[in-house]
Amino acid sequence: MNNNTRLGTKSVWDGEKDYLVHGATQVPVVHSVSFGYDDMDEWYEVAVGNKKGHIYGRNTNPTVQAFEDKVKSLEGAEAATSFSTGMAAISNTLATFLVPGDRIVSIKDTYGGTNKIFTEFLPRLNIDVELCDTGDHEAIEAEVAKGCKILYLESPTNPTVKITDIERMAKAGHAAGALVVVDNTFATPMNQNPIALGADLVIHSATKFLGGHADALGGVVCGKEEIVEKIYHYREINGATLDPMAAYLLLRGMKTLHLRVRQQCENAMKVARYLQKQDLVEAVYYPGLETHPGHDIAKKQMKDFGGMLSFAVKGGVETVRDLLPKLKYANRAANLGAVETTVGPSRTTSHVECTPEERAAMGIPEGLIRYSAGIEDIEDLIADLEQAFKAVEAGAVV
Ligand SMILES: *Cc1c(COP(=O)(O)O)cnc(C)c1O
Repeated sequence: MNNNTRLGTKSVWDGEKDYLVHGATQVPVVHSVSFGYDDMDEWYEVAVGNKKGHIYGRNTNPTVQAFEDKVKSLEGAEAATSFSTGMAAISNTLATFLVPGDRIVSIKDTYGGTNKIFTEFLPRLNIDVELCDTGDHEAIEAEVAKGCKILYLESPTNPTVKITDIERMAKAGHAAGALVVVDNTFATPMNQNPIALGADLVIHSATKFLGGHADALGGVVCGKEEIVEKIYHYREINGATLDPMAAYLLLRGMKTLHLRVRQQCENAMKVARYLQKQDLVEAVYYPGLETHPGHDIAKKQMKDFGGMLSFAVKGGVETVRDLLPKLKYANRAANLGAVETTVGPSRTTSHVECTPEERAAMGIPEGLIRYSAGIEDIEDLIADLEQAFKAVEAGAVV
């Protein structure tokens, strides 16, 4: 599709045409482990990569490729390769490039699982990990300038939605010869395109906003062909392949990505403004708020501020325990980015792997609630919060 086509149209149409069969208007779920050939020469040419086609499901599959093509188009990337989960996309990407003795620079606030890779698994392979304070651009630049193989970023972060200047960091990374990787899960391609900001690789947990219906796990990484090719090779051998059924669900979900994300951004902004006015709320974290320390950078690099916010309640864990079950229109669950509003305490969700001390060091209070705005009518979401706050306040011992 031509480059001037807008993102909403691309999310509906792109990536699918090559995979339609028998006049179907929808991409089929190709449940086949292998792909057969009567012509031995053709089989050979496909097997060695001289001819397009499929050989074995661990390597490629048409439904999976349609999903990859759609993401690639939305991120403005040359190539994309997918994975069974977002964490598989992250771990496989790191494992493709890092060898013992290498150094990686990142931030303290990455997704909990990513943080565990940095603190538990990479060090034991003798890979030096330097985690800087999130948003401290000078500190990141200083560490990157000492030399590193990868600069790994996430913006906005999970759960306190901190913002890092991707364009500035990409420049610093490239000056040091590093590969610049950005986890774009929270922003989605609708709001932020890290490749256009200078990043080499963009990663998504497709489980979240891309799929959007909390019914399929998946991950994807995209960027320049020659880089993605290497990650694909690592994945085809190591086997964290995306299942065709999951690929189909993610592909279908992505057709409404622009509508969902638009509504989620609008809802998140209104919920954030509402929460700011509540007595029980100590702090609200949302990059769309002028008071957010990353607001100006977010405004510069994002089209909208995303569907994710978090807030800290007075009374910590006790209030969280009291408040969350009172919400009628919110799943209390560990996922995010779904059509349903989803809430959860960070100590149980994104940062359950960390100790209370580790969470405190990352600036995550025990009373922090992550709020993933769904696509419901905003009046109902606000009314729901209102009745829950009133009930908690009525029951509170003054
Ligand atoms: C959920 C998430 C991941 C991990 O994705 P899975 O699909 O759960 O493996 C990575 N990064 C971010 C920002 C996430 O929210």
